[in-house]
Amino acid sequence: MDEELGEVLFSAEQIAARIRELGETISRDYAGRDLVLAGVLRGAAFFLVDLARALTIPAAIDFIAISSYGPSSKASGVVRIVKDLEEEIAGRDLLVVEDIVDTGLTLGYLLRILRARGPASLKVCTLLDRAVRRIVDHPIAYRGFEVPDKFVVGYGLDYQQRYRNLPFIAALKTPA
Ligand code: 5GP
Repeated sequence: MDEELGEVLFSAEQIAARIRELGETISRDYAGRDLVLAGVLRGAAFFLVDLARALTIPAAIDFIAISSYGPSSKASGVVRIVKDLEEEIAGRDLLVVEDIVDTGLTLGYLLRILRARGPASLKVCTLLDRAVRRIVDHPIAYRGFEVPDKFVVGYGLDYQQRYRNLPFIAALKTPA
């Protein structure tokens, strides 16, 4: 394996098992509703696709891509939409699917603009939650795993565009 990679935090099997559980819960909660899954590119792409396959109810699939302003890769909460949703979400049940919620700044921005479009409901499902770093709090309806304060890669999460395709989630040895 790559020497930049540290310990494996969640194996492919652990991720798959947790997504099955999330899929069951979400299918129960949204039965009879008009569910739209909105994955935040690029990190949440893998998670959204696997989560969608774990659902036993109909759901529309869509993606939104945002990018941070400024030279730094550090979250500032000042982001712009580089690819918008294609679905009309007014009056529908929107579930935002994130890879990781860290400070919560990015999510805060996203929720503000999506709420303004008048969805019937707006909730968040994140694969990873690093609550210790939270600056802006948001209710998280569904979470896969809590993660410690270590930069993680794999299963959609990158370091300089690498490692997204790892089937597991690992800590990065090199401080990001
Ligand atoms: P927040 O605005 O909550 O601080 O940051 C959320 C975004 O920062 C995530 O969607 C993700 O793109 C990035 N991010 C935060 N922590 C990590 C991490 O440990 N690894 C990777 N690869 N990206 C992270």
